[in-house]
Amino acid sequence: MGELRVVVSGSGRMGRQVAAAVGDADGLAAVAFVDGLAQEGEIDGLPLFNDANRCFGAVAPDVVIDFTNMAWTPALAEAAMGRGVRMVIGTTGLSSDFTAWLEAAAAQHKTGAVVAANFAIGAVLMMHFARQASRFFDNAEIIELHHDQKVDSPSGTAKTTAELMRAAKGHDFRHPNSEKEPLPGARGAEYGGVAIHSVRLPGLVAHQEVIFGGLGQTLTIRHDTTGRESFMPGVIAAARAVMELDHLVVGLDALFGLG
Ligand code: NAD
Repeated sequence: MGELRVVVSGSGRMGRQVAAAVGDADGLAAVAFVDGLAQEGEIDGLPLFNDANRCFGAVAPDVVIDFTNMAWTPALAEAAMGRGVRMVIGTTGLSSDFTAWLEAAAAQHKTGAVVAANFAIGAVLMMHFARQASRFFDNAEIIELHHDQKVDSPSGTAKTTAELMRAAKGHDFRHPNSEKEPLPGARGAEYGGVAIHSVRLPGLVAHQEVIFGGLGQTLTIRHDTTGRESFMPGVIAAARAVMELDHLVVGLDALFGLG
């Protein structure tokens, strides 16, 4: 098989990083950008289109990798699925209606697609290990630490981690409240008995600790993101894997078989 021809959807921070990572990856070649909000032209020597159908018709890609906005991804997916272009989607905030549509379209066209809210392999493993540890401990707390520009607290990853831990345990964790709380909120937010504490400081990127406590011992699982390149190995692995798929896979954990 020749090189995988990759179109990068989105020319923002992630899109440009993806194009560079694809350019560095063995057996993959970036052939164009498509960005619905951009003026057509060139970025780093690659053609930039603002219409997905025209882009796919012109460069005949094998895969499109999308890091944009939920307002754009459905139109991109319609163009891609109709032409048998496999999809790797990192855009967040997608509706469940869209995901259901994509699942049906991928099956109908026998065209692989991967949607993942987190392409950082370390973060995916952190959640997987936290899920595994949950059945052995009755107490657990999460500390997530992010830069001070982050819009949401707690982070989506922290909330998802707590949900996965609660589901793996089958019932709530023990959540000891303090008898006195002179400053309300000191015990953090809580999901399924798991306290979640959000730290926001300049100088941080994205970090999370899951701390389990038991008799005479604690277990800490920690993941640190130090840069946007943390997502790239997961994106490249998904672009290779999607070539072997004829249906939709949601989440890197499912793609890697982390049951
Ligand atoms: P960005 O703002 O730098 O770039 C966004 C891109 O989307 C731009 O090219 C913009 O032109 C395009 N876009 C935005 N709205 C559009 C619209 N209505 N129609 C057409 N194009 C539109 O953002 P970013 O930091 O590159 O992040 C992009 C997406 O990737 C976000 O959804 C973000 O949450 C997600 N993300 C996911 C992961 C992951 O691991 N899955 C990691 C980082 C970022």
